[in-house]
Amino acid sequence: MFIYLDNASTTKPCAEAVQSAVAAMTENFGNPSSLHRVGLDAQIAVDNARKIIADSIGADSSNIFFTSGATESNNLALRGICSAYGRKRRKIVASSVEHASVEETLSALEKSGFEVVRVSPESDGKFYSADFLNACDDNTVMITMMYVNNETGYILPIKETFQAVKRKYPDIITHTDCVQAYMKIPFKANALNADLISLSGHKIHAVKGTGVLYIKKGVRVIPVMTGGKQEKGIRSGTESVPLICAFGSAVEKYNPTIKERYQAVSALKSRLLANISAIDGISVNSAEDASPYIINISMGKRSEIMLHFLESKGIYVSSGSACSKGQQSGVLSEFGVSDKNADSALRISITAETTESELDEFVKILREGMATLRG
Ligand code: PMP
Repeated sequence: MFIYLDNASTTKPCAEAVQSAVAAMTENFGNPSSLHRVGLDAQIAVDNARKIIADSIGADSSNIFFTSGATESNNLALRGICSAYGRKRRKIVASSVEHASVEETLSALEKSGFEVVRVSPESDGKFYSADFLNACDDNTVMITMMYVNNETGYILPIKETFQAVKRKYPDIITHTDCVQAYMKIPFKANALNADLISLSGHKIHAVKGTGVLYIKKGVRVIPVMTGGKQEKGIRSGTESVPLICAFGSAVEKYNPTIKERYQAVSALKSRLLANISAIDGISVNSAEDASPYIINISMGKRSEIMLHFLESKGIYVSSGSACSKGQQSGVLSEFGVSDKNADSALRISITAETTESELDEFVKILREGMATLRG
């Protein structure tokens, strides 16, 4: 049995993505910077993917910069904006539940003298845009908020918050990590009021090692990486043509069906939650209106023990966030989950390709684990 329910960690590349990566490694293997035909063909392939990704978020190709993944996009966004605009304005406002690639970068910026204000959810476990707005002032250089939380699926109110912030403080730069929202929740860059958006390839059935930073026209980002001035100098280093082509192909495949897949995944989530509710001792940490792609539960047994029990039966889930390598990130406690429940949290992350029978099998084995494993 092989039931993969850890799609927030990474997804299986789709056939189209694999095919374009292979084509770019076998036939179209040139360096996009080369001035000859072979280089030009590679450049055309990169720009084709750039256009597909730009279109998917209502942007222009000139706004899309390829990186090695969302970790790099987040670093580039935060460090690049603070270098460009942070001489006088020294404060950054952020949500308290950001992914490590944002949170660790914030800590580094804090050490270099920036003040970071982390806005937490209120006692009802919800984020409110007024709290973010109140944290901003004339000294604020940027605000960063993820769209969908990777541990619980919680959807942050970025649209309302960025709109309110831009209205009161037009100079504050807005950045959002959209890794867990992209190709799952439809959005356009302009409608989000986002100056910068981070995306990752491997969360959407493309390949690990490629990402995008969208930069709104007129926003200045000082590069982190210096070198051959690829990507208009924003991100030096020879473009990974195969991974970029794979990224473009995955977006081309999935972009037209975001809404249909959202509905299908919502139905899968409802079925899963209904079946889980029949098992004693399980609580759900994900809000009802969270992204249906991520379901976080606590089940009274140490996460790792249950994770390995499920693994022994061929079912793969995550404990908390896979990115934290078994370490608790503190995100669940921000959402009001007790330490005990955080210790026994499991993250189930699904796709539209997940089947009802896979989820039913998961529930059956989970029930078995609940009955046989010691707390
Ligand atoms: N942000 C979020 C919300 C994520 O879930 C992840 C992946 N775990 C990242 C950033 C980092 O993406 P990448 O693996 O492409 O560096």
